[in-house]
Amino acid sequence: MNNAITDWIRPEIQQLSAYHVPEPGEAIKLDAMENPYQWDLIDKWLQTLQSAALNRYPDPAAREVKQQLRAVMQIPDTMEVILGNGSDELIQMLALTLNGKGRILLAPEPSFVMYRLIAQVVGMQYVGVPLNPNNFSLDRVAMLDAIKTHQPALVFLAYPNNPTGNLFALEDIEAIIETTPGVVVIDEAYAPFTDKSFMSREYSNVLVMRTVSKLRLAGLRLGLLAGPQDWLEQIDKTRLPYNINVLSQISAVFALQHYGVLEKQTRQIRADRADLLEQLKAIRGVQVWPSETNFILFRVADALAVFNELKKQGILIKCLHGSHPFLENGLRVTVGTPEENRAFLQALREIIV
Ligand SMILES: *Cc1c(COP(=O)(O)O)cnc(C)c1O
Repeated sequence: MNNAITDWIRPEIQQLSAYHVPEPGEAIKLDAMENPYQWDLIDKWLQTLQSAALNRYPDPAAREVKQQLRAVMQIPDTMEVILGNGSDELIQMLALTLNGKGRILLAPEPSFVMYRLIAQVVGMQYVGVPLNPNNFSLDRVAMLDAIKTHQPALVFLAYPNNPTGNLFALEDIEAIIETTPGVVVIDEAYAPFTDKSFMSREYSNVLVMRTVSKLRLAGLRLGLLAGPQDWLEQIDKTRLPYNINVLSQISAVFALQHYGVLEKQTRQIRADRADLLEQLKAIRGVQVWPSETNFILFRVADALAVFNELKKQGILIKCLHGSHPFLENGLRVTVGTPEENRAFLQALREIIV
């Protein structure tokens, strides 16, 4: 290999494998927790875009977007808000802000892979604590022990969790919040699909993260962090000044003005999730876990074979086999349109008889 690369690229970066996203092609795409629905507002949206001042820098504080988000996500006035280019960028800002020699980022496992990946990229030490392997609840004793031992600067809890789909117990999270010396981030990416939230519970060391990605707006790249003003003021210093571009700002404001449409789609997805879950359960040889998200985790005898055969038939889901020992032969399917779900179930039944 090129010596300059081996000499100068940090070993942690050289050892990383980049986050891999497969080419969707023409597939029925049920792999990435996207909302499958179109909307009939395209003409109106395009009209709004005509006023986009691309010659100007965007509003660095994205005030209008924030105002809309505050309203639809019911963010208390006492909480400050920062926006990110997707919540991925917010995770990176948090890691950059709380990083330092020997600083620890801690999360339960299996959970969202970006926590570990971003810790490694910024040079923070990562500690993963196994969940209970049967139902993926928090192992409270193990978490509290790890927190006492490692004194983490940052703890990430996805609520509900990805890729397991469940909510952690409130008492477990409260114990973690009390024990953590640094900040606990509650990642509520799947808030549209559950009734539970930490948004209105105010703690001095808790930040709540949301995104519009699972709300039909994954292409916008827009996430938000809400929490006490004193913390956010510091984190905001690592934000690049114009991180939410003009087109995203205009489109977000437009989309959130039509929030009713998104809510209706979300309700439909929640209802279809229940159907999909029941149908999956009825297939012999399939183990299914309950879900508070827009995806379902399930296990089959040979996940890779099922994944590949579905793919051959033009249906793309996510194979979790090999990503964590607890996810052996695990697959994750995003709830699609009723037609997509039917096509998926039909193909699955034929593959595993
Ligand atoms: C999908 C997901 C996100 C989304 O991040 P964006 O960058 O906003 O698209 C964040 N956290 C979890 C747990 C997720 O599953």
